[in-house]
Amino acid sequence: MRILLISDIHSNLAALDAVINDAGRFDRIWCLGDVVGYGPQPNECVERLRSFDLVCLAGNHDLAVIDKQSLDDFSPDARDAAFWTRDHLAAPHCRWLETLPGMVVIAEHGITLVHASPRDPVWEYISSALIAERCFESISTPVCFYGHTHVPAIFRKPTYEVGIVSERLTVNTPVPLTLDRVFVNPGSVGQPRDEDVRAAYAIVDLEAMTLTYHRVQYDISATQRLMQLARLPDRLRRRLRFGE
Ligand code: ZN
Repeated sequence: MRILLISDIHSNLAALDAVINDAGRFDRIWCLGDVVGYGPQPNECVERLRSFDLVCLAGNHDLAVIDKQSLDDFSPDARDAAFWTRDHLAAPHCRWLETLPGMVVIAEHGITLVHASPRDPVWEYISSALIAERCFESISTPVCFYGHTHVPAIFRKPTYEVGIVSERLTVNTPVPLTLDRVFVNPGSVGQPRDEDVRAAYAIVDLEAMTLTYHRVQYDISATQRLMQLARLPDRLRRRLRFGE
């Protein structure tokens, strides 16, 4: 089975559609949360995702929109975008967000899915090897896929060695998921923050137990135009051109 692994779409339909078109054949989507927030097309992104066989988690922005996450820790721009999304997201999509879990264990394949971290499924940023090391103690599976940082990353815990190895993901290069315990972030579809403006995603092959990371260009101007029309914060619109 081929899984399209994505995270942090952030209401960016042009980016989501570019990923879906680029991914080729896949059997199911695993989405690690933050479907909405920041971007201009929350309804369209929810509809597109739900048209597929889907496992989807709740991210902090999804929960903020349905008032299950305080906006106190959000930046002013993120807060404004969350209020905008509350005003525009259709009621059935809000109810769907209510049903999303914070963490899912795919026991048969030894994989944990989480938005932020297994210690704090919606808020902690796994942004260093030290944090990753502590998180390894919190999962029961050898593999964990996470999002939230918007930065593609892989942290390995070699079986017979002490410490954590932080590696860069390389596009189009399958990574074996069976050698060590691993945390992998496939990057963000709709708001990359690794200075690469292209949408990020990964394909997980559950037979071969490999993950292959990809980047794809999308029509950034189209998303920016819609953000301008919606009067979403300028900085959120501009950052898509810088990947930050
Ligand atoms: Zn996010």
